Amino acid sequence: MSGKEQKYIDEAFKTNWVAPLGPNVDAFEKEITHFVGANEAVAVSSGTAAIHLALCLLDVKKGDKVFCSSLTFIASATPIIYQGAEPVFIDSEPDTWNMSPQALEKAFKEAWHVGELPKAVIVVNLYGQSAKMDEILSICNHYNVPIIEDAAESLGSTYKGKASGTFGQFGVFSFNGNKIITTSGGGMLISNDSVACKKARFLATQARDPAPHYQHSSIGYNYRMSNILAGIGRAQLEILEERVKNRRLIFERYFQELSQIPGIYFMPELENTRSNRWLTSLTINETESQVTVEEVLKALTDENIEARPVWKPLHMQPVFKGAKYYPHTECESISEQLFKTGICLPSGSNLSVKDQMRIINCIKGAVNSNTKERDVIRII
Ligand SMILES: *Cc1c(COP(=O)(O)O)cnc(C)c1O
Repeated sequence: MSGKEQKYIDEAFKTNWVAPLGPNVDAFEKEITHFVGANEAVAVSSGTAAIHLALCLLDVKKGDKVFCSSLTFIASATPIIYQGAEPVFIDSEPDTWNMSPQALEKAFKEAWHVGELPKAVIVVNLYGQSAKMDEILSICNHYNVPIIEDAAESLGSTYKGKASGTFGQFGVFSFNGNKIITTSGGGMLISNDSVACKKARFLATQARDPAPHYQHSSIGYNYRMSNILAGIGRAQLEILEERVKNRRLIFERYFQELSQIPGIYFMPELENTRSNRWLTSLTINETESQVTVEEVLKALTDENIEARPVWKPLHMQPVFKGAKYYPHTECESISEQLFKTGICLPSGSNLSVKDQMRIINCIKGAVNSNTKERDVIRII
């Protein structure tokens, strides 16, 4: 928290706006639209809810197909299942770790051939890095299929000067506790389509018809954001830029200290993009570094430092067994390689230099002890 949140929460209490609507919700929506440069925003209870609403608005239903990035958190794809539709997973490419335009093109060509174009494409901006939006947009526009941009991890990032989340028909942000700014739990659906946003508000408040009595002609959800949590969001948004600066500094320090080690490669930042560096991630080439991912993770765990592998690709998840998957090339699955070799390092905005140096030294130690051991073995 920044310390300014309490002011907005107190306002909500003083005016008794303790409900899933109110002045903080309206203001938070407006402030987000100003920040990212979109026409409208709908504040909801989670990023997952925002993706679900976007699919409803695009009329995704039973039997439909939806293309989705494979290397992501499961919430990118679960709403496809809520709608009874079928996810088709698209691999990453190595420059951004995000959706491979090459694989996407192949998926579209095959879908076109059998007359089964997807209803939507969910494009994820992993760990704050924008996908190759120009290439992806051009393919989707060619087939006239709308994009839902899952920008849950990339609020504050830009692609060619334009805010992440504003490239699709719909953009999605998350304010879950682990994201770059938080409302404890919450999300935002953004769009330039004000008719769709009006319908999103309707669906998110139990689809109540405009009648004095309670009348419903369709099924909706209870998905709106509470006015108290929106107050937290308003204060958080004020410090978003500062957060991005902090996270980028954390990345810089890791990069300076670790990038010389043979076999360690940091997640790239595509030219003309600015990543919010939500998480600093790197891959380890075990032959070059002579240390395994497991050994590095274990060295960190032994020091009580939490680090994690990158997301397990969705096409490898037991729950999506049998789902269709398009790899980057015939013989190259980038998301699987990243999963095998990737590590996410502690990247919290409040990480101190001292703590970060402890993490860095622990990784250096893991690499050194291994190379020494192997040198000895070689000499013998
Ligand atoms: C966090 C996250 C979501 C879901 O957001 P919630 O607010 O937790 O529902 C969706 N997609 C990605 C890529 C995420 O990281």
